[in-house]
Amino acid sequence: MEGANKDSDKKLKVIIVGGGLVGSLAACYFAKRGHTIHLYEAREDVRQSEQFRGRSINLAMSVRGRTALKEVGLEKVIVKHGIPMKGRMVHAVNGERRPILYDPNNKQVELEDPRNKQVELEDSSKKQVELEDPKSKQVELEDPSKKQVELEDPSKKQSIYSVSRKFLNELLLTAAEKDPNVHFHFHHKLVAADLDTGSTTFHRAGQSEAVSETADLVVGADGAFSTIRRQLMKRPGFDYSQRYIEHGYLELCIPPTEDGEFAMEQNYLHIWPRGTFMMIALPNQDRSWTVTLFMPFHKFDSLDTPEKLIEFFSECFPDAVALIGQEQLVRDFFATRPSSLVSVKCKPYHIGCTALIIGDAAHAMVPFYGQGMNAGFEDCRLLDELMERHNDDLSLVLPEFSQTRNEDAEAICDLAMYNYIEMRDLVNKRSFLWRKKLDELLFWLFPRQWVPLYTSVTFSNMSYTKCLSNKQWQDKMIERTGILKVTVLLLVLFVYLTVWMSSPDTRVTWRSPQVIEL
Ligand SMILES: Cc1cc2nc3c(=O)[nH]c(=O)nc-3n(C[C@H](O)[C@H](O)[C@H](O)COP(=O)(O)OP(=O)(O)OC[C@H]3O[C@@H](n4cnc5c(N)ncnc54)[C@H](O)[C@@H]3O)c2cc1C
Repeated sequence: MEGANKDSDKKLKVIIVGGGLVGSLAACYFAKRGHTIHLYEAREDVRQSEQFRGRSINLAMSVRGRTALKEVGLEKVIVKHGIPMKGRMVHAVNGERRPILYDPNNKQVELEDPRNKQVELEDSSKKQVELEDPKSKQVELEDPSKKQVELEDPSKKQSIYSVSRKFLNELLLTAAEKDPNVHFHFHHKLVAADLDTGSTTFHRAGQSEAVSETADLVVGADGAFSTIRRQLMKRPGFDYSQRYIEHGYLELCIPPTEDGEFAMEQNYLHIWPRGTFMMIALPNQDRSWTVTLFMPFHKFDSLDTPEKLIEFFSECFPDAVALIGQEQLVRDFFATRPSSLVSVKCKPYHIGCTALIIGDAAHAMVPFYGQGMNAGFEDCRLLDELMERHNDDLSLVLPEFSQTRNEDAEAICDLAMYNYIEMRDLVNKRSFLWRKKLDELLFWLFPRQWVPLYTSVTFSNMSYTKCLSNKQWQDKMIERTGILKVTVLLLVLFVYLTVWMSSPDTRVTWRSPQVIEL
């Protein structure tokens, strides 16, 4: 098959359409394999722009994203830049705040040594000073060749990281550009493609003449409204569905305090769950907060005057009014229209051995699990693993990627949809909190066997399908055993273990050399 690259010594010419987060990471991965990359991006180079146009200003990066970055030597720099969030901070209407930690181990750390928290807070507030400039070519890469893909132990990973989308995109572009085989073409918008032959045509901003380019492989990383995917849709056998939810989102901002500090506890993802709508806030490096209001469009439409807006906020998010400031709230709210949220499922992700879609182009999802970018980054890592396994033979790599990735991508699309209900409503429910406690306890007792859903999705690289099937199994176990029986049994076990662990005899035995050797 021509272009399939059965001869692994042949270096491929790869066109990547889209220089967003996933396209620029894909460029790093292909460059690492020695291929020649031409990356085409419709917009300007994000490193040249002051303002970041488009979606959320910051994103939650979890273990999948970090693992993918680690492989190209960028994990440390992004963790250093990011602000750790160790749980959700739930804001009640009366202004009370209640933390729900992502990982019960955090709680143990806090209980054991309250000073730990202080240290963490101090550290993250210093981070801005230490930041490297992602635009400068000085970003030092870790040496990925020295590292194995380590499957993370879910019990050790406690925080997700709030990272700036602009910083991350700049970092990835700069890292990719270090390789002389990577060529960027900004202001080039894909307008036509013949994916069987790998031919593409781009319109250049301000120019009447189009640009054509052909490659061995065309990778569509052109986002939720992908032009490459539109080409795939014309072909028989391509399944496609999309769903817009009736909620939109709008971004607001909580500025730093007068003395330049965070206005809320910075190591949390703050949530104001209000049943049919919610607001969340993620910390930024400049100590401000990006606040995102998710709400049905008809509700947005009903708030058509500053008075109605203030009345609504005072009723539903009274503490946030003071934090945002009335004037800024009105200004930001009426400055833009709320954006829509779409979930896209499709398959297969490839055509023959010449074209592939990844990231949002293949599986856009609603943002409530904070996994869209993480899943897109994981695409890059898994694709690279297949390239390695099949010696860059695209006739084997592409079908296997479609085959293995689709089920996982659809699982996380569904989970993301479910998590909206959890975030805006269930976190307020007693049954949810009870189940969370039970999961925490079981996870503590059986860290390998009982990994809670959120932990496996966010703090491990377990396939999304496995995360989902584990949860279904856990639900079934609890249902079958009977909730009351499980609770009583666990309480007895818990008391027994606590007494056992605290007895002097046990402590001696536990620490004895024999035990350590085991
Ligand atoms: C409100 C919100 C919050 C989110 N929060 C999180 C989060 O916390 N964690 C997380 O993991 N994910 C989050 N996501 C999801 C995340 O933003 C996406 O999954 C991620 O941006 C996908 O990256 P991508 O590169 O595939 O697509 P995009 O980021 O959309 O990039 C596509 C690029 O392709 C370019 N392009 C498009 N068409 C063409 C064309 N015809 N020719 C050339 N170039 C083209 C675009 O200009 C763009 O630069 C969030 C999404 C939203 C909407």
